[in-house]
Amino acid sequence: MTSADNHPDIPFGPEDTPWQKTFSRLRVLDGLPRVTPPSYDPRSAYMDIPEVPYAKVQLPPSGLDADQYAEAEALFRSYTDTQTHNFAGYQVTSDLNYRDRLSHYLDRHLNNVGDPYQSSSYTLNSKILERAVLDYFASLWNAKWPHRNDDPDSYWGYLLTMGSSEGNLYGLWNARDYLSGKLLRQQGGRRDGKGTATVTYTQALRQEGQSPHAYHPVAFFSQDTHYSLTKAVRVLDIDTFHTVGSTRYPDENPLGPGTPWPTEVPSVGGTAGDGAIDVDKLAILVRFFASKGYPILVSLNYGSTFKGAYDDVAAAARTVREICAEYGLDERRVYHARGNENDYDLRSGYWIHIDGALGAGYAPYLEMAYDAGMVEDAPPVFDFRLPEVHSLTMSGHKWIGAPWACGVFMSRTGLQMTPPKSSEYIGAADTTFAGSRNGFSALLLWDYLARHSYDDQIRLAAECDRLAGYAHDRLLTLQEKLGTDLWVARSPLALTVRFRQPHADLVRKYSLSSETLRVDGEERTYVHLYAMKHLTRELIDELVRDLRQPGAFHGTELSDAAPLRPQLNMLTDAVPQAPEATEKTDLVMSHAVAGTSLTG
Ligand SMILES: *Cc1c(COP(=O)(O)O)cnc(C)c1O
Repeated sequence: MTSADNHPDIPFGPEDTPWQKTFSRLRVLDGLPRVTPPSYDPRSAYMDIPEVPYAKVQLPPSGLDADQYAEAEALFRSYTDTQTHNFAGYQVTSDLNYRDRLSHYLDRHLNNVGDPYQSSSYTLNSKILERAVLDYFASLWNAKWPHRNDDPDSYWGYLLTMGSSEGNLYGLWNARDYLSGKLLRQQGGRRDGKGTATVTYTQALRQEGQSPHAYHPVAFFSQDTHYSLTKAVRVLDIDTFHTVGSTRYPDENPLGPGTPWPTEVPSVGGTAGDGAIDVDKLAILVRFFASKGYPILVSLNYGSTFKGAYDDVAAAARTVREICAEYGLDERRVYHARGNENDYDLRSGYWIHIDGALGAGYAPYLEMAYDAGMVEDAPPVFDFRLPEVHSLTMSGHKWIGAPWACGVFMSRTGLQMTPPKSSEYIGAADTTFAGSRNGFSALLLWDYLARHSYDDQIRLAAECDRLAGYAHDRLLTLQEKLGTDLWVARSPLALTVRFRQPHADLVRKYSLSSETLRVDGEERTYVHLYAMKHLTRELIDELVRDLRQPGAFHGTELSDAAPLRPQLNMLTDAVPQAPEATEKTDLVMSHAVAGTSLTG
């Protein structure tokens, strides 16, 4: 680096100190610190948030003194609290209640490295709580539990350190190795008398008469799928039907001979529809590849990210299995050695993964609410009641709510693959994706589930469903009053309502996420709000009031520059109460009686 690239005089930190003066003498030898000066003013390099000037949080080598720290932290706290109060645009529960019970553990290290069912020589772990959480979800999702290593039908799972992105990645990794004929964990675990593994192959071999594509899985997912799936197939180098179709069979797109292959499976009604996968089109695409002997990997959405849509999992799964059965891919032999017809295992030639990031967290309770007559419609079945379902993931920070990303991955013991390498060092099999795994998340999820009964969760699920209905009604009324098409829509049973993107100030105020869709030949930028547990009718009313101002949808100026709330504790401001708000109050009361809080 040349000195022309260095700017040691750049004002740095809360006191605008020239950068080279921020060092103690101890760290400066010959007048030159042994670290690199900035090449450019970092304050102008990054996009700032107006509430927290970057200067206040910059980290000089000396650290911050007590006053500087207090000022910086207060700014950040105020920003976080305000945005928490208005947070309406993502499927994430934003107000939490853990600190009174769990702050102790911020000074404890909990690391669940390795398999959750093996306690490991790394004793600072929360695997005992992790197993309780996993058993809870195994029961909720109708898997066979408890987990037993010697029972292939029992569930196996682990708690994720990332959210469903990791669950999708792990699910697809498992699927890829399973379908491409790698070694099952149960075979690798089988030992002969001398303690050596009886099966040592690493890659199945094609036998005389098998399709040349027998171990070349092809992935299918819909156009409404989360970007983590696209990323997962890239990372894992899994071919999608689009890649294989457009390279090997460019003129044979079965959805329209002579037209280009779509990149993803179309949803019903395309971008204008509700967002659920088009099972008929999926069937046509799957048949094309199954008939050529490719194993089939399907990922279905249970609560799609933008429209909150539920794929018809039962219909899609049955359709895939039936098509696969026609081509010998429902159950097939995976041969372990060339020329030995007797050395094989039986596995399915398809894999169905469920991305239930949000939906898997609350739909079971919604179904119970339906059974109790509290809501009008039941959500579609998505879980291990369906024999075709191979793996499932859910995010912990979405429905339940957590201060960071976390989640659950679940599959069946008999579907597990042998880990790439033994892991004697940690004293537990390396069956998960990460090395070190977040042990605090297990504690958080355990805490939440210990404090919320099924009854509590059923009431919350029913209330959020009603709240989404309320937001939908209010926005439809607004649309009518304004006489403008605001594209207001809610997919069946979704917790989200989508509408035309408003002014940038409102997008920011409510953290509304946007998505541009091509609908009827027109580019439309939508936003959505999510009726999560923390959302109130008051906040929906406030949003609708903000959206009513001239300039909210057109033009650059808002008539009444919607003020950002400076403090969370101003929540009790004179916001006129909607008459319907009493229903929510009743709910709070009933929870208070039951000894639990509504949102905690
Ligand atoms: C949020 C989401 C994901 C990703 O989950 P993270 O927890 O953010 O990793 C995956 N799929 C769907 C449908 C989602 O909504």
